[in-house]
Amino acid sequence: MTVTLITGANKGIGFETARQLLELGHTVYIGARDAERGEKAAAAIGARSVQLDVTDDASVNGALAAIDAAEGRLDVLVHNAGILTGDVVDGPTALRVFDTNAVGIVRVTEAALPLLRRSANPTVVTVSSSAGSFWAVNNPDRPEFHLPTTLYSASKAAATMLTVQYAKSQPGIRFNAVEPGFTATDMTAGFGDGGRSPAESAAVVVRLATLGVDGPTGTLQDEAGELRW
Ligand code: NAP
Repeated sequence: MTVTLITGANKGIGFETARQLLELGHTVYIGARDAERGEKAAAAIGARSVQLDVTDDASVNGALAAIDAAEGRLDVLVHNAGILTGDVVDGPTALRVFDTNAVGIVRVTEAALPLLRRSANPTVVTVSSSAGSFWAVNNPDRPEFHLPTTLYSASKAAATMLTVQYAKSQPGIRFNAVEPGFTATDMTAGFGDGGRSPAESAAVVVRLATLGVDGPTGTLQDEAGELRW
C-alpha cells in the first residue's frame, strides 16, 4: 500500500488529488491546518487526516511523527498548501506568502525525509506555478506575463528552485514541481470567471505522484510535459 501525505488537502486541488489517489489504492493522509476541516474532508472520501500547518514547526513535526507511528514510512509527499495574496507588496505580506509557499516546503520536506528514505519508491511533488517561471512571466504570449502577483510568483519561483535543489541533494528521492493549470478554487475566486475543475488539475498532480522508479526528477511540468524555468 502506497502511503501518501498531501498538505492543504481539505479543499481545492489538494482534496481532489486525495480523492484520485485513494481511488488508485493509496493510503492518503489529508494534511489540514484546521483539524476539524481536515477530519471532515477525510471522512467524506475515506482518507485519514493529520493536523498540519506548514508555517508551524511543531505542527509539521507532529504530523510526520503521527504518520511514522502509524505507517513507519512515507512513499508520496505532495506539497500542495499555498496562499495567494492580492497585489499588496510589503514586508508582512511577503513574510506570510513566503512562509507558507516556500518555507513550508522546507519544513515539511525536512520532517518527511527520514520517512521517505524508508520507501522503495519515494516521490515528492510540489504544486508550484508557472507564475513563478522566469520564462513564462517574460513571455508576452503567455498569460503569466500579465499577472499582478508579485509576491506569489516570487514564492513559487522559490518553491520550484527548492524542487531542483532537493532533487540534486537527495538522488534517492524523486522531486518534481507541477503547474496544475488555471483552476476554479477558493484561491482564484477573485480572478473572475474561468478556471477548470479541481478534478482536472488534480489529474496532472496525480501523474507526477505516481511515477515509477525510473521517472524523472528535478523537473517542472504541466499537463503537456516539461515547462521551461
Ligand atoms: P485553495 O482551494 O485555496 O486550497 C489551498 C489549500 O491550502 C487549503 O486547503 C488551505 O487550507 C491550505 N493552506 C493554506 N495555508 C496553509 C497552511 N499554513 N498550512 C496548511 N495548509 C494551508 O487553492 P488551490 O487552488 O486548490 O491551490 C492548491 C495549490 O495549487 C496551491 O499551492 C496553489 O498555489 C497551486 N496552484 C493553484 C492554481 C489555481 O489556478 N487554482 C494554479 C497554479 C497553482 P484552509 O482551508 O485552512 O485555508
